Amino acid sequence: MKFGGTSVADKSAIERLIAIVRAQRQADAQQEGGDARGPIVVVSALSKVTDRLLGIAANAGAGDLEGGRTNLHDLRERHGVVSEVITDTALRDEVLRFIGREFDELERVIEALSVLREVSPRWMDAIAAVGEILSSRIVASALTSHGLRANWIDARRAMVTDQEHTCAAPLFPETTSALMAHVDPPLAAGRIPVVGGFVGATRDGLTTTLGRGGSDYSAAIVGACLGAAEIQIWTDVDGMLTADPRLVPDPQVVPHLSFAEASELAYFGAKVLHPATIQPAVSRNIPVRILNSHRPHARGTLITGERPAAGRPLTAIASKRDVSIVNITSTRMLMAHGFLRKLFEVFERGKTSVDVITTSEVSVSVTVDDRRRLAAILEALSEFAQVDVEHDMTIVCVVGEGLQNDPRLAGEVLKTAGEVPIRMVSQAASRRNITFVIREEDLPRALTRLHSTFFAPEPAPAGLA
Ligand code: ADP
Ligand code: ASP
Ligand code: MG
Repeated sequence: MKFGGTSVADKSAIERLIAIVRAQRQADAQQEGGDARGPIVVVSALSKVTDRLLGIAANAGAGDLEGGRTNLHDLRERHGVVSEVITDTALRDEVLRFIGREFDELERVIEALSVLREVSPRWMDAIAAVGEILSSRIVASALTSHGLRANWIDARRAMVTDQEHTCAAPLFPETTSALMAHVDPPLAAGRIPVVGGFVGATRDGLTTTLGRGGSDYSAAIVGACLGAAEIQIWTDVDGMLTADPRLVPDPQVVPHLSFAEASELAYFGAKVLHPATIQPAVSRNIPVRILNSHRPHARGTLITGERPAAGRPLTAIASKRDVSIVNITSTRMLMAHGFLRKLFEVFERGKTSVDVITTSEVSVSVTVDDRRRLAAILEALSEFAQVDVEHDMTIVCVVGEGLQNDPRLAGEVLKTAGEVPIRMVSQAASRRNITFVIREEDLPRALTRLHSTFFAPEPAPAGLA
């Protein structure tokens, strides 16, 4: 059971978490006739804490020690206040001492970094990880003090990753062994392991993080490595919605998604699920459920390998903002074999992945969202091609199994969005989605039209004429 930042934001959120875990444990005990194992609880940092910690790292990098100290002070206070959820005073005092030590240590770190005026990715991880380390420690003691005996698991011992600081990848064999060593014993003893998401460590014990939003991924890794019956993502919306609720006024819950649909939506911007979450679940065929911690009885979204055919031909729309298009033109070499290899080798060397790709007779266009190494990539490409870049673009990805069955549907989608200039269009052979790229300023208009056309509220689903 993974609880996101808003689901552990404050005392009452953690009280809701406790009620949800208690209900799950009771349901499991009933089903298994007595001794239930689990659940394992994975938590994010308290909401906004990761942003604040990275802000503190930025303060230090800019030599602004006072700013960093002020921010640290606020965070220390907030964690102290939230710890009031721990009703047992001895347990609470222990956690408060733990919090105090972590913040003292952080203060020493930012003092040193603000002298150096440089924060390497390695230190960024050490700082960002504190959010999940503290929240998991608080939640573990909160559960115990409310009669649900829990064990705090230090994620730096349970999740083993490579050395790509700020976007580390898990090492599955090592992580499985670590989880067997640290999480399985308390589980077997009937206790509830509580582990911070997002955080891991290299084989050498250096703290790493899995990338922003990575707690979902942590939960899926833990679930897959330990063979969980289900992976639950508890968040602040009722499930996967037909579009980003911050962009359309009336999105609806998608009750059932296939792994493939969910992966595509997550990859193209449905923030409710970290893009890598589904992959470990697929490997062990473990169902994933997205649920609302504010409304625990709402049905949520179930994600499984296959899903029953639904009434609507389209499932949902995702959009990913702030991407750039790189147009690579070579009249001389495009059709020469080896051109694409050469081109993608440049992106590979630059450790930058591309999302959408289209090719025409003389040019290849790709989108990138990570611009950290773009300048070097453009320089390398310009050695053998003409290159230009367009910023402030948005990828829109419309997903639905219906695209496979109805050849007109993709055209209808583009026509509906098409009052705005479309810069790239891509549909893979799987035909599970139609993806296109438009200017960011055109997104609200395109999204409103698409959503009202294909996802009108029941009972009168407007589809194709
Ligand atoms: P958590 O902190 O629980 O991990 P996130 O903020 O990462 O939560 O993800 C939940 C948010 O994702 C929602 O509040 C919503 O604004 C956003 N979101 C974007 N697209 C979608 C979508 N298609 N369905 C549901 N939520 C979405
Ligand atoms: N706390 C981390 C973040 O804000 C990870 C997560 O919440 O999933 O990115
Ligand atoms: Mg999230």
